[in-house]
Amino acid sequence: MLNSQRKELIETLRKKGITSDLVLDAIKNVNREDFVPDIMKIHAWEDVPLPIGNGQTISQPYTVAFMTSLLDVKKNDKILEIGTGSGYQAALLNYLGAQVYSIERSIELYNSFLKLMDKLQLRIMVRLGDGTIGWNDFAPYDKIIVTASSPTIPKSYFSQLKIGGKIVIPIGDRFQQEMQVVEKLTGNDYKMESYPNFKFVPLVGIDGWKSE
Ligand code: SAM
Repeated sequence: MLNSQRKELIETLRKKGITSDLVLDAIKNVNREDFVPDIMKIHAWEDVPLPIGNGQTISQPYTVAFMTSLLDVKKNDKILEIGTGSGYQAALLNYLGAQVYSIERSIELYNSFLKLMDKLQLRIMVRLGDGTIGWNDFAPYDKIIVTASSPTIPKSYFSQLKIGGKIVIPIGDRFQQEMQVVEKLTGNDYKMESYPNFKFVPLVGIDGWKSE
């Protein structure tokens, strides 16, 4: 990896509207090469999604930076991530000082991230299973981030979120989604915002899409 490639990516993200220095610093310092297959490493610092096996992808750095900015991560936030995939998003949240709980439904991706965590000495709680039901054992969370797209927001996320907490999730059909940001104002009052034009793999589970 060349330092110039990292700098170029950060410049690209700034030009696309990412303003958080904390997020940009995390993108610069978490080595995306560690999270992609060997054959893809030469593309790791390009602003593109890349295949990670099992028909899944590591998201484009811009999308990761945008979602992470929306999440407004604070040190020691307890964050639930749905869709561990390569583990890159989880590692970024961890770099920003969050306690990360992440769920993956693919056993192959789950196992390869366990190995990578060991190699990189990352302290992230991961679970194999259906993330559409959340992870009640450690709830409530300050933030919930979903890195696969769903037709609706799974109900469990509302109850597993703290008051004052946020959910960031792509919602839409199979072809296009809006990034929805939900803020829990009181026990049953929520503020919603959305940002158009995203494309994610499906969130497959009991309270998401029923098939790939
Ligand atoms: N956050 C990942 C990263 O940084 O590499 C990218 C995630 S990839 C776009 C979406 C992931 O969601 C896939 O690994 C897929 O297997 C997983 N997924 C889909 N449905 C799921 C579910 N119900 N529970 C947990 N993971 C799920």
